[in-house]
Amino acid sequence: MARGDQLDTYRSKRDFGRTGEPSGDGGQERPRRSKPRFVVQKHDASRLHYDFRLEVDGVMKSWAVPKGPSLDPSVKRLAVPTEDHPLDYRTFEGTIPAGEYGGGTVLVWDAGTYRNTTEKKGEAVPMGDAIDHGHVSFELSGKKLTGRFALTRFRREGQDGRGAKAAWLLVKEDDDRARPGSDVVADQPDSVKTGRSLDDVAAGRRPSRRSPRRPAS
Ligand code: MN
Repeated sequence: MARGDQLDTYRSKRDFGRTGEPSGDGGQERPRRSKPRFVVQKHDASRLHYDFRLEVDGVMKSWAVPKGPSLDPSVKRLAVPTEDHPLDYRTFEGTIPAGEYGGGTVLVWDAGTYRNTTEKKGEAVPMGDAIDHGHVSFELSGKKLTGRFALTRFRREGQDGRGAKAAWLLVKEDDDRARPGSDVVADQPDSVKTGRSLDDVAAGRRPSRRSPRRPAS
């Protein structure tokens, strides 16, 4: 499928003369088949939320997670699908001007690579198919999030006949990286890319020298 088609919705929502977000035009990074990337962006928009994005077939498939991910397998986090984002969005950190779509501050809360572990009857299911079917499991290798997670759709768009949005749950699977009782979004609030807090990014403070950690790429 042409990348342009997949990003039409993304582009239609934004004025690239006003926002510093990537347009995904040209210069688009090449997709990676063997070690696809993920990112979680903390986004202080009209309401604080976390944008969870997985590299799938040349775009970042995206869900907005109001409360953010958890490492506690007993915690189920609502995840609402949003439009596909360009691959280079994964490193975007900065401020979207007030009045623009998604206006507010964005930081790279976690980043790394993932491995698709979705199976059906013992057979591996490609990511795109798994998302279409409404269930995907994957193993994250990030700085804050590691181990197996699952995203599962529990409501399709419009399923209630009143135009409800599609809704999924993001859950940590119970493996040796699970941390019952922990609160990773509260304990580790800052950017893995620059070490900055939301306030730092909003104020345009430059990254400190001591925290130049870049996400795995
Ligand atoms: Mn967002």
